[in-house]
Amino acid sequence: MALDQGTTSSRCILFDENKKIVWSEQEEFPQHFPKAGWVEHDPMDILHSSLRVMHASVVRLREFDPEAQVRAIGITNQRETVVVWDRESGKPLAPAIVWQCRRTADAMEALKADPYGEVIRQKTGLIPDAYFSASKIAWLLEHVPGLRGEAQAGNVCFGTVDSWLVYNLSNEKTHAMDVTNASRTMLFNIHTRSWDPELLEYFNIPAAMLPEVKKSSDLYGTCRIADLMLNGVPICGVAGDQQSALFGQGCLAAGQAKNTYGTGCFLLMNTGEKAVDSQHRLLTTMAAQVGDTVQYALEGSVFMGGACVQWLRDSLGLLKTAAESETLAESVPDTLGAYLVPAFTGLGAPYWDPYARGALVGMTRGFRKEHLVRATLESIAYQVYDVVHAMEQDLRQAWTADAAPAGASGAQSSAADVPGLTTLKVDGGASANRFLMQFEADILGRPVVRPECIETTALGAALLAGLYVGFWDSEAVTVQDATADTFLPKMEESVRAEKLNGWKEAVQGVIHGA
Ligand code: ADP
Repeated sequence: MALDQGTTSSRCILFDENKKIVWSEQEEFPQHFPKAGWVEHDPMDILHSSLRVMHASVVRLREFDPEAQVRAIGITNQRETVVVWDRESGKPLAPAIVWQCRRTADAMEALKADPYGEVIRQKTGLIPDAYFSASKIAWLLEHVPGLRGEAQAGNVCFGTVDSWLVYNLSNEKTHAMDVTNASRTMLFNIHTRSWDPELLEYFNIPAAMLPEVKKSSDLYGTCRIADLMLNGVPICGVAGDQQSALFGQGCLAAGQAKNTYGTGCFLLMNTGEKAVDSQHRLLTTMAAQVGDTVQYALEGSVFMGGACVQWLRDSLGLLKTAAESETLAESVPDTLGAYLVPAFTGLGAPYWDPYARGALVGMTRGFRKEHLVRATLESIAYQVYDVVHAMEQDLRQAWTADAAPAGASGAQSSAADVPGLTTLKVDGGASANRFLMQFEADILGRPVVRPECIETTALGAALLAGLYVGFWDSEAVTVQDATADTFLPKMEESVRAEKLNGWKEAVQGVIHGA
């Protein structure tokens, strides 16, 4: 059983031995926006919606097969969101502050200009920002009456959503967090893999409220909720949503990567046992930990992914459905040399220009709606290419720097050992678009592989839990899905180079001050 506790809904998915979905249930829950830029959840809504989808799934499972048993429970969750509760009674002491909430943005903005920001980046792999948990906990300690005193006395638990669920679901009332979630708090030193005393002091957060950090595949407790018919089932897999998807996609070796084409795009590349220090403002983060091998990942995001298609549909009225973009794009052979740069909210990695704005360039008289739809889909692929390219440069730099302390010759001989992307694994709503997947493969010059089951986030958590109880072995995680769709690159190298060149020029045109 995988419990996928997301930002807008809680889902429960049951998988069988063949990693096939047996049943899934989903429930949305309320979002609260008490002030402009603020986002909160009620921790009880998070818990109760989770319990209801778990319950409904088990009821349906029993209808199919009265003998069927849930072997293990895995949890994957919205990352960075902060919950605080009373250690004894379990009562939440404040609303959950959601990762999207900008209430601490000003404080974190100041930190960006402070030299200590670089120290934080070195320790945590994260770029100082209000997204991460630290400033949110600090805010609660500052604003909830009595919280700091109780926290210092050891009466308060802080956790991300995984911790909150584990505490409530387990007999043992375990107060723990998995290593991937810990790496998003901005209090966790990813090199020593422990809470960092200096950062706790900096953010003025009492150590007594922090959870124990555990591996992603580990015993967190046994389920205690009798009326769920899950009493005694081990909770033994936990990972943040993006890391869970990386694991669910079987990206366990350095250089393997997955991209999720949702509203935005989330690209994570496994970098093996090396925590790669990015020169392109990508995040360095923990990949899901199984056993004693510790793995890291680079993470980069594109703001406008599938959202570009929503823009075509809802703002321009050019499409009735998102899916229609595929046939329209394929109805023309190219964009007639035009490019859309969808920098509507600035540009993410590797450009990091919040002031950049969108542009449509290179149009000629024959330019029609179909060309615009095609240029829009192509822009998603180009943006993903840019992140992959930046990651590969970071990887090359990290590997050659380590291999060649003595000089350039060492660097050259080790170049062949630099892990590189052989295929890009994909998932998310817009990965359904065959044109987009083919164009991505063409632009990357490498195959794009889309598994049949695109519920890779939930699958990752299920695999982590199933591995712990021996329901699956490690081969089951990496075995190639025979039903996956593979898109092979077909574009001629000269055409690819020309298109990438055009894209680069178009992006340069929107960079602020360029
Ligand atoms: P999220 O989890 O961020 O809400 P999803 O993974 O559900 O996102 O994907 C939804 C996004 O995918 C939307 O932005 C939508 O426009 C886009 N999308 C869905 N189907 C298609 C399609 N066939 N072609 C292109 N984009 C699509």
